[in-house]
Amino acid sequence: MRCLVTGTAGFVGSHLTERLLDAGHEVIGVDCLVPYYSTDLKWRNVAPLLERDGFTFIEGDLVDIELGPLVQGIDLVFHQAAQAGVRASWGAGFSPYIRHNVIATQRLLEAFTHRPPRAFIYASSSSVYGNSPLPMCEDTRPQPLSPYGMSKLAGEHLCTLYNQNFGIPTVVLRYFTVYGPRQRPDMAINRFISALLRNELITVYGNGGQSRDFTYVADIVTANLSAAECIDTVAGSIFNIGGGSPITVNVLLSLLGELVGRTPRLRYEPVQRGDVDHTGADCSRVARALDFVPSYALRDGLAQQVAWQRGLEVLYSHDTFGLGHLRRNLAIAGRLSHALPGASLLLLSGSQAVQQFVLPLGADIIKLPTVTKLGHEHYVAQGLTITPSEVLALRQGLILETVMSFKPDLLLVDHAPLGMRGELRPALEYVRAHLPQSRVVLGLRDILDEPAVVCRTWREQAVYAALETFYDRLLIYGVPDVCDPITAYELPASVAARTSFCGYIRRDDPITPAADVRQDIGLGADEPLVLVTAGGGGDGMPLLEAYVQALRLEPAGWTSLVVTGPFMPDAERRRLEKLCCGLSSVVIRPFERDVPSLMHAADAIVTMGGYNSLCEVTGSGTRALVIPRTSPRTEQLLRAQAFARLGLVDLLLLEHTTPTDLREAVKHAIAHKLDRRGACQTPHPCLAGVTVLQNGLDRLVPILVDLTPSVAVQAVREEGALL
Ligand code: NAD
Repeated sequence: MRCLVTGTAGFVGSHLTERLLDAGHEVIGVDCLVPYYSTDLKWRNVAPLLERDGFTFIEGDLVDIELGPLVQGIDLVFHQAAQAGVRASWGAGFSPYIRHNVIATQRLLEAFTHRPPRAFIYASSSSVYGNSPLPMCEDTRPQPLSPYGMSKLAGEHLCTLYNQNFGIPTVVLRYFTVYGPRQRPDMAINRFISALLRNELITVYGNGGQSRDFTYVADIVTANLSAAECIDTVAGSIFNIGGGSPITVNVLLSLLGELVGRTPRLRYEPVQRGDVDHTGADCSRVARALDFVPSYALRDGLAQQVAWQRGLEVLYSHDTFGLGHLRRNLAIAGRLSHALPGASLLLLSGSQAVQQFVLPLGADIIKLPTVTKLGHEHYVAQGLTITPSEVLALRQGLILETVMSFKPDLLLVDHAPLGMRGELRPALEYVRAHLPQSRVVLGLRDILDEPAVVCRTWREQAVYAALETFYDRLLIYGVPDVCDPITAYELPASVAARTSFCGYIRRDDPITPAADVRQDIGLGADEPLVLVTAGGGGDGMPLLEAYVQALRLEPAGWTSLVVTGPFMPDAERRRLEKLCCGLSSVVIRPFERDVPSLMHAADAIVTMGGYNSLCEVTGSGTRALVIPRTSPRTEQLLRAQAFARLGLVDLLLLEHTTPTDLREAVKHAIAHKLDRRGACQTPHPCLAGVTVLQNGLDRLVPILVDLTPSVAVQAVREEGALL
């Protein structure tokens, strides 16, 4: 169907548009972005819709745009556009209510008189009832208590009279206080949640004993669709749409307090003119006619809105070069975007691989100039022909500017407490001085380097003092039984008290079925597959060379998928291809986005000992031979040794391994996998409450969500309103 949604950029209109598009309809959305509340928020509602097929956005005012071409060929009309809000409708504020709620509605109906649509659904409001007895039923004589309510009632009358005179199949839906993600910022639930998240005093008008029949936005959308579907039997009708369980404002507040995890601090003020005492819908008529019953429990719906209202996050990944930090932070951002559907996630990264990944919803990246590490604390610009101090100043300025403009609620720093050569310090100082509500968290990999080396570097660079001053929390991406950085890196007691272990962070489980992975490389279900990965590829050549030598000893009984990594120098890649000449069962690929799926599909893995690789190996259930890098840092070696001690991987050291050893080890690993194909994997014992096999994101993300204190303050013209 071709649908017209008016008010498409608003709270209800944007949800309705989304659902119509999901159902495969074509939607023309009209909105003039009235500045009753921040137009930024409206753009934010409409932005994802603009990306979708079948959606056309017309920024225009129903009162003065030419409606003839707009209504051409429209099957269904969902008229949501209105000047909302009770309190602003008094006094001089009244005229926009007449303009947007009465004149706009009349013009729109008039435009359909020559060719009525199949259905015209009008969004009305419970405020037409005023203080009617409960439950409010459609046959009660409406007696609005506010000019807003009167204007919505006028719209209803217009629908009815155009139905009677011109046969336009109208249906009036009287919404009872709608809530959910994207709720208008002037509405009570939005204001209460914002205040709770910021630990601010909440103003309640009246004694809080007034009650509302809160209705989840998805139920409102369903009612609209049902009304359109059943239009043949319901044209000309008026229906209440209520959530089904009215509660008092005081009960609502304590429920929200529970969901946010904070006791509301309340201040009671006199009742505001126009606010009714109680609303409660009699929904029996709509249940009979449309088979409509609200399906969202209040607590679940409120939890969705709380999640949506939580804040802005910056994830700083110190990447100078390479893939590892970026991949980890993208995994975190992916989960955060689910947990905080309204959050904006901004990543800062120097990795030149930023273009290769798909960003999660609500996320964007600021690319810092890439630098390459040449030696201890010696970094040079990778592409730019500027000096090391110039590139440092450039990155430092970009980071500071981002933090100053974006004002994150949460700053998550990956791995390097002060960033590359202290580049993060000015931004951290700024947060401490100017953003007292913001939380700063350091996410540390389980193993950084030899403990003595880490402690010496941290002392030289005053990192211990920075941990004390700048960081609210330290989260270790590992488990204490593999490495305990609290002891190993001599964290002061005050910092240790703010430190917790999350487990190993790895991307979410494989998404591509093993059969599809195998088919992609032309492999039968029972032919063994060995995945050989060199991480980012910058220093993976020795491992890949050794592997190919092992293959050359005799024909292999398996296929090898070799992922070199995007940063393998071209000359090395060419050399590798030459080495593989004549080996029919080797497939070489420079980059694979979905390595977890490859690992899962493989019968054995040969890999370096990078953090992400080992996390993904343990999540895949496939046996892995780990050949760690041993210099210039011992990080990979230490981790691989610890994982091998726990029986999670097999460790090989390149310098002590002949091609024959490597070949035998691969054969053994394949046999191991083949043996247990189809059999259930024994879970690894729990280590200090966190298992190595568990995805650390399960622990990390709830901690970050809890630490995210607030939403951006949104400009609201008038103080709160309930309807
Ligand atoms: P909203 O303010 O978020 O959305 C309404 C949208 O209509 C806005 O984006 C606005 O810019 C647009 N608009 C206003 N006048 C327009 C015009 N002349 N031309 C084009 N666009 C125009 O409000 P909402 O909360 O989504 O409410 C949607 C509808 O539901 C409204 O009709 C409202 O009266 C009704 N309603 C809402 C609630 C509630 O609790 N949210 C309760 C009862 C009824």
